[in-house]
Amino acid sequence: MFEHYWAVRNGERLPLFRAVRSFPCEFEGDMELNELWKVHKECSREFWKEYPDIEEGGVERSFLDLKVEIVKRVLGECVLCERRCGVDRRKGRGFCGLGEEARVASHFLHLGEESVLIPSGTIFFSSCNFRCVYCQNWDISFFPDSGREVSAAELARMMEDLERRGAVNINLVGGEPTPNIPAILEAFRVADVRIPIVWNSNLYLTPEGMELIYDIIDLWLPDFKYGSDECALRLSSAPRYFEVVTRNLEKIRGRDVLVRHLVLPGHLECCTERILKWISENTPEFCVNVMFQYRPEWRAAEVPGMGRVLMREEIERALELAEKYGVKLCD
Ligand code: SF4
Repeated sequence: MFEHYWAVRNGERLPLFRAVRSFPCEFEGDMELNELWKVHKECSREFWKEYPDIEEGGVERSFLDLKVEIVKRVLGECVLCERRCGVDRRKGRGFCGLGEEARVASHFLHLGEESVLIPSGTIFFSSCNFRCVYCQNWDISFFPDSGREVSAAELARMMEDLERRGAVNINLVGGEPTPNIPAILEAFRVADVRIPIVWNSNLYLTPEGMELIYDIIDLWLPDFKYGSDECALRLSSAPRYFEVVTRNLEKIRGRDVLVRHLVLPGHLECCTERILKWISENTPEFCVNVMFQYRPEWRAAEVPGMGRVLMREEIERALELAEKYGVKLCD
């Protein structure tokens, strides 16, 4: 399991971002955005034909340079996530409240993640594109001005610092990393780390957002929260949730993926069962961490049914469902 992740972690393969920045890609800075996307599609296709047999080295224009060029344009009319705000983030703010620069609330060696991940070099970005009523990181998710603004160069130094301190991966999380993609891509131009990159996210990206990060993430760590759009709208204010997240999960088939599902009180049939069933029918190779640590944080107590922890019968039922649908469990 996680063959690619372990190969990178053991130093047998280049992390994807290092290969992407060494892979030549021909484009001009004055091309229209749709032309750049066409070149991107072609470069991605060629890249995957050659990876992992790509040698590191300087190139005049790389696949990563192309991604940075594209994301600068996208930032002017932001559609990184399915909120599709369309705002120019150099002048204004969209739903996530984040401007042009990344903001980081903290970065440290995280020991509380799945065993395959620890010690994990975790970077907590400020801001989020969801509004989960039970958010455990509400102080950074809903206050995009929390933390501090970091340049791409500082972000790269943070990654290097984490690797020096013993991190076995760089874990990009938040809040939500998606609104911070512009600075993340720019940081990869200069970051000197050799450990795998982990995308720890709600996976509510647009196809454009997914294309930009698809080729640089070594291990995907998506949440799969809801089996029903009604629940997603009520608890996270996230429209079209199921369609968006399942589309993106299908996009990363064939890659190293660890899905997290946090069981919610009273949501065994509408969410847990539908999610496990979907995974068993569509992405049975994905490993799933079914999590039971729900706590009624933030404004959960104001929402009927959400102001309590799980009952023992709910935990047992979730485990029964995992067995019934034969999902591959991991923690
Ligand atoms: S990242 Fe999402 S929420 Fe933030 S401005 Fe862009 S589209 Fe809107």
